[in-house]
Amino acid sequence: MKITFLGTGTSHGVPSIDCMINHYSDCPKGVCRLAQDNPRHRRTRSSILVELNDYCILIDVSADFRTQVLREHIRRIDAVLITHSHADHIGGIPDIRSFTKDRSLPIYGSNESITSIQKTFSYIFDPLTTIGGGIPKLEPHIIENSFQLPSEIPVNTLKVDHGNLKGCFGYQIGPLAYIPDMKSIDQKNLDKLKGTEILILNCLRNSPAHSTHLTLSESIELAREISPRFCYFIHMCHDIHYETDSRDLESWMDFSYDGLVLNI
Ligand SMILES: [Zn+2]
Ligand SMILES: [Zn+2]
Ligand SMILES: [Zn+2]
Repeated sequence: MKITFLGTGTSHGVPSIDCMINHYSDCPKGVCRLAQDNPRHRRTRSSILVELNDYCILIDVSADFRTQVLREHIRRIDAVLITHSHADHIGGIPDIRSFTKDRSLPIYGSNESITSIQKTFSYIFDPLTTIGGGIPKLEPHIIENSFQLPSEIPVNTLKVDHGNLKGCFGYQIGPLAYIPDMKSIDQKNLDKLKGTEILILNCLRNSPAHSTHLTLSESIELAREISPRFCYFIHMCHDIHYETDSRDLESWMDFSYDGLVLNI
């Protein structure tokens, strides 16, 4: 299995437009300014590509999808999994049309996520839309629990709480568990994570606590409870400095970065 981190940032991305407008004067650790010269501080919106047996699974179509595809030379996508319908996770859907010229692409998500995508991008699903420059051909699939992709790869859903948004998922594919946005998880779903080899987990910022996301101490605590072989933190804002904030990490934890590739 090959995992490519396409984006590792929170909804604003790093550097944030807010910090640029304020001439970086409010940036808590100077990360937005450091991002100009150090790519490890640059974070596009969160998404990964999983390649397994020559089958390419995209998890979320981030608002930076186009940039990520061009940067990583992605030439093939076979299926799309959506964690939830917040704009940072679905904003790139119009650009997926380049991958649906010859065939439609299956897109999987909760009832809430698929319904929201159909509403947000209604032109894609309206048979009366004039094709013009091309529209994505998507085949929506509402999923609830475990399911199989057309290539017979089994996928488990992990139901997580992320504020009051309903139908927010993480996904488990073989040894990998991917949870970009969450605040809490119930015991039933936590139990599914036993034996995870690679955990990719939400870690919004160092402090203060947040109502819909895990922050560093909470992410570390949850990672210890799951105890995978390795844990990579994702969906980080400019309050995570990958060097100075790494003090409290275990040897098997690290902050991810855009372009990181794992072969497991
Ligand atoms: Zn998000
Ligand atoms: Zn900043
Ligand atoms: Zn979200």
